[in-house]
Amino acid sequence: MRVPGPKGGIRGAGRRDGGALGAYYSYRMRKYVIMGVQGSGKGTQSAMLASDLDLVHIAVGDIFRWNVQNHTKLGAQVRRTMAAGELVSDDLAEGVVKDRLTQHDWNYGFIIDGFPRNERQAEFFLESYDIDGIIHLMLPDSEVRRRVMARRLCDGCGMDYNLIDSSPREEGRCDVCGGKLVQREDDTEEALAVRLSEYHDKTNPVLDIFRRKEYVVTIDARPDKIEVQQAIRAALKLPSYQG
Ligand code: ADP
Ligand code: ZN
Repeated sequence: MRVPGPKGGIRGAGRRDGGALGAYYSYRMRKYVIMGVQGSGKGTQSAMLASDLDLVHIAVGDIFRWNVQNHTKLGAQVRRTMAAGELVSDDLAEGVVKDRLTQHDWNYGFIIDGFPRNERQAEFFLESYDIDGIIHLMLPDSEVRRRVMARRLCDGCGMDYNLIDSSPREEGRCDVCGGKLVQREDDTEEALAVRLSEYHDKTNPVLDIFRRKEYVVTIDARPDKIEVQQAIRAALKLPSYQG
């Protein structure tokens, strides 16, 4: 079922809070975009929001990484670009988002992480989907470096660790599946510098476009993950996180 709405707009939050359409909207489909620099916690915060609200979490970078790991044709097309920290082509990124969203398994909504990342992608997105809110996680670049360099991923199940505050029980091993913890291929000083400059040059203007539509909530990403999650909930007028 699809909530009718002005195609391509940013839907006002108040609209479904009552009135004649109140009952119709009461099952509350929610569609969010989460943005923020590398290491700002988009993946972690999206997962916390998604599991609680039954949203589908769509992480464009994760989809590309899955394709690289599984040696698909798409993986071969994006591997080198990603490792260098550059953005892959808009056509490929839009294709991934379109394919994922046409699966229509998002009865309660979705949260997209890693898209749109430039003005063209933002235009494509606004033409195709109604969005309820943009979550902008803000983190200074100095903190980005510290977090990204401490990040490790399980090469078995993809679980995310951070040697600053979520170390595994056994060094270098995943608590969940025992897999090996590795660094992402693009979590190097060199690739990070490229990713940060891509973000500031290309993704910041997207935030400006969304701000003009007045539906960006900006959240300080420095506190611990629960505190950040509660701040997101408060800003979006969602029930608080129970853990
Ligand atoms: P991060 O935000 O930490 O750089 P992601 O996991 O979101 O990492 O993305 C990793 C890489 O995947 C990006 O550096 C880029 O190469 C590619 N990518 C992800 N999303 C997009 C997108 N919307 N457009 C182009 N490239 C993308
Ligand atoms: Zn694992």
